[in-house]
Amino acid sequence: MTSHMMDRPLLVSSLLAHAVQNHSQAEIVTRRVEGDIHRYTWGEAALRAAKVANALTRLGVKPGDRVGTLAWNTYRHLELYFGISGMGAVLHTINPRLFPEQVTWIANHAEDRVLFVDLTFLPLVEAIADHLKTIEAIVVMTDGDTMPKVNLPNVICYEELIARESTQYHWPELDERAPAALCYTSGTTGNPKGVMYTHRSTVLHAWGAQAPAALDIGGDTVILPVVPMFHVNSWGIPYAAAMTGAKLAFPGPALDGKSLHELIEREQVTLALGVPTVWLGLLNYLDSINARLTTVKRVVVGGSAAPLSMIRAFDQKHGAFLVHAWGMTEMSPLGTVNAPTTELMALPAEERYARQAKQGRPVFGVELKIIDDAGKELPRDGKTFGRLLVRGPWIVGNYYRNDDRSSFVDGWFDTGDVATLDELNTMQIVDRKKDVIKSGGEWISSIDLENVAVGHPAIKEACVIGVPHPKWDERPLLLCILKDNHACTKEEMLDYLSGHVAKFWLPDDVLFVKDLPHTATGKLLKVDLRKQYANHLMP
Ligand code: ADP
Repeated sequence: MTSHMMDRPLLVSSLLAHAVQNHSQAEIVTRRVEGDIHRYTWGEAALRAAKVANALTRLGVKPGDRVGTLAWNTYRHLELYFGISGMGAVLHTINPRLFPEQVTWIANHAEDRVLFVDLTFLPLVEAIADHLKTIEAIVVMTDGDTMPKVNLPNVICYEELIARESTQYHWPELDERAPAALCYTSGTTGNPKGVMYTHRSTVLHAWGAQAPAALDIGGDTVILPVVPMFHVNSWGIPYAAAMTGAKLAFPGPALDGKSLHELIEREQVTLALGVPTVWLGLLNYLDSINARLTTVKRVVVGGSAAPLSMIRAFDQKHGAFLVHAWGMTEMSPLGTVNAPTTELMALPAEERYARQAKQGRPVFGVELKIIDDAGKELPRDGKTFGRLLVRGPWIVGNYYRNDDRSSFVDGWFDTGDVATLDELNTMQIVDRKKDVIKSGGEWISSIDLENVAVGHPAIKEACVIGVPHPKWDERPLLLCILKDNHACTKEEMLDYLSGHVAKFWLPDDVLFVKDLPHTATGKLLKVDLRKQYANHLMP
């Protein structure tokens, strides 16, 4: 069939061109790795992205080549986002919080040719450099004055690399299905898996993300993306900001409560995005100095479930609406968003908070369904739970250089999450499939238990795992970290929980620990804990 409409490609470079033509004056503020505050505009960012593309061309980088980054959320990283993808190469953001062996494995698997590195991560690169097989040049993201002595071959200083390059670059008209960016899952078991985003998927995802029914980003939004640019493209924020002219306030490496608070108030942030741990840090800090946020309207929370106590704290203390969102590396990452609706906002506060604890409804473009183990689709009744499957134009179709098809079912992607869907298609995660606790034929959600436990005033962080039990197969074990100068006993905790969950959900034991292990993306790492406590309830 011949189409009667134009077939213009959706390209990352067109986002930049749009930003330059339509809102070149919009601001990009960064707390730099060097410590000071840097400000410029989209207009200046575009000129420097062109310099990056020219410099990479000079270094011999060709369309399709992978260029790695180990970097914080900063204006230089933003220039790489657009310079690398714009020229047709692939922006490969690497998560520096992974184990050094994983970083090495990923860079080798992707065959990165050039690696851009923030000062913070130089020691990491120095430690693994001998094992990086394909890297031809390492660019340190700083200027001549702060450039350290580096004991590696082919090291270039970022500002020196681009200094003499032209600010003009003819962004090529690529195929919209060409690769634009690459991100690896953290692979808690086995090797990480690569997800190769295309120009088309990236632009469509940005379109979906900025919409009012999703993250609601516009020219009057001031965004604080705490969610890292080294993990799933900072939830697509750099692209969505280019599309809309929103102001960006990049936190750089300073993610503690005090630094975030300063940046939020100084830059008048209206929309902040990050994982629950970051917000816990900020909320605790604000409590400790008895301060209120004055400009933030919405806080987007994803990556792990947002506890009810956090939803309440943002609303009651800071007048900010917590937008719960869900997604994953394989989904670019946005899948669902629990955005405000007239109906939701009309509910009494506590009822509304309970609804906000759900992960929300799909962004247009994403389809969801739940199935049982036999593959039968399950009802949308808000109670029945099953394996959550997704499909859409920004969802992975196969992993990069990996034949594993086990997550792909008849054109759908199996997320590995267990969830319910209600009549209005609102999704609620019950658990990761591997974390759900199977007790005497019933399922217990570790996430729900954790969320109730952190609602206790003495608890800083909680983790629930299923451990083997002689009679019930598995029973929940609760591990808690206490807040400084707070106390709680096992009995007090069980008493507290029994007011909130069914009796058979109550943990068989409660332990107070100093630390809990986390993955490189800030999620509780339960595999090792399950091994460590495997005999805890056995006779
Ligand atoms: P990885 O850390 O493996 O790279 P992602 O960062 O892609 O993984 O995380 C994806 C997973 O994180 C989801 O499958 C889900 O289990 C969990 N997740 C993401 N958002 C939420 C949320 N709002 N509530 C609960 N779990 C979430």
